[in-house]
Amino acid sequence: MAESIGNSGTGMKLHTKILLALLVGATAGILVNTQLGKDDATVGFVNTYIAGPIGQIFLRMLFMVVMPLVFSSIALGVAGLGDLRKVGQVGGRAIGYFLGTTFIAAAFGLLAVSVVRPGDAVPDAVKTELMATYAGDAAAKIEAGQQGGFGINTFVNIVTRNPVKSAADFDMLGVIFFGLMFGAALTQMRQERAEPMIKVLEAINDAVTVIVGMAMKLAPYGVAGLIFGVTSKFGFALLKPLGAFVLVVLGALLFHMFVNVSLILKFVIGLSPKVFFSRVRGTLITAFSTSSSSATLPAALKTAEEGLGIPNRIAGFVLPLGSTMCMNGTAIFEGITVIFLCQAFGVDLSLGNMIVVVVMSVITAVGAAGVPGGSIPLLVGIIAMMGVPGEAIAIVLGVDRILDMTRTVVNVSGDLSATAFVAKSEGLWDASRVPAEQGA
Ligand code: ASP
Repeated sequence: MAESIGNSGTGMKLHTKILLALLVGATAGILVNTQLGKDDATVGFVNTYIAGPIGQIFLRMLFMVVMPLVFSSIALGVAGLGDLRKVGQVGGRAIGYFLGTTFIAAAFGLLAVSVVRPGDAVPDAVKTELMATYAGDAAAKIEAGQQGGFGINTFVNIVTRNPVKSAADFDMLGVIFFGLMFGAALTQMRQERAEPMIKVLEAINDAVTVIVGMAMKLAPYGVAGLIFGVTSKFGFALLKPLGAFVLVVLGALLFHMFVNVSLILKFVIGLSPKVFFSRVRGTLITAFSTSSSSATLPAALKTAEEGLGIPNRIAGFVLPLGSTMCMNGTAIFEGITVIFLCQAFGVDLSLGNMIVVVVMSVITAVGAAGVPGGSIPLLVGIIAMMGVPGEAIAIVLGVDRILDMTRTVVNVSGDLSATAFVAKSEGLWDASRVPAEQGA
């Protein structure tokens, strides 16, 4: 199984292949976009019948295993931790880390956007044009935001009424909750009764891991298809009026990952950032190309265990939670976008309002689904709260995909660092357990 994150059988490492595919797909997409235009019929044909389907098949293979994997890993993680007090302690540490780093991320994003002030530079004509062009997309997001609004029911609904329906609806928190209960129940049973179930769950986990290995063999093709779709359809023309905004978001995301998270890795977790990023880079490439923390979860689990040497019962418990609750990159993006739109619409925010934006960015980042664009409907709510029309989200939709891909990388690096943090603070792991890099 090491093959899926190590050598791919032809001598070249799989993540090197994926990276190459990313470059080839992106270059081809940019070329056709700039030479033929983003609405060219041939490009449309290639996207509909070749690149799109290949990318989708890869994504679907990953999504296919997410629910069984979340259930079996959480249940096994809880059963492995033994008593419920321990589960509470590990969960508490994980959630503390999620909230702490997400708060740092959101505050940092706000600082960056307040210093650079990219919103002042957007001409009114561009604003009006963008709002007209993306009005339809914006309306769909606003509706999604209203349906999935954040309130007391968000918490009540975590207690799923029907775990099978939750799995079918891709309701991660519902499945996580059922997995928690199931694992907890196993710890309360007589050992000889619980043992066969634990064996079954372990077998499910192993089988799913094999499927992930198969999916990852498709990764170079899938990734090339996905990135070609993004770049060939991307509105490069938008990079000029929105360039400053895009640069602030990307700069803040990269700074958070390589400076803030690296400092935490080094001084809190005691792991060299260089070692960390060298072991997790394949998973970060998957995050970038899928734009989805959930689709990246299977690869992240393998990396945590095989690449970082973190015990299964910690990774299996913390990573599924993190993939839906720990979104540092999303919080940065949300904070910056809200303030950017306020600047563009001439809305002055008091310090109190700024604090509300930080807090709301943290809450909605925790609540957002780990799927492409999962945070956008919730973001609309914060914009409206600050007195900017929700429709204004249209202004950033045209450039969102590239920001989404990058923030997902930051989200996943946060999940993996959280796992290392919890394993370390539980005394179950330290940097000396990180295996030597395979094939290096
Ligand atoms: N795509 C992000 C993720 O899956 C969520 C978002 O910010 O839209 O982590």
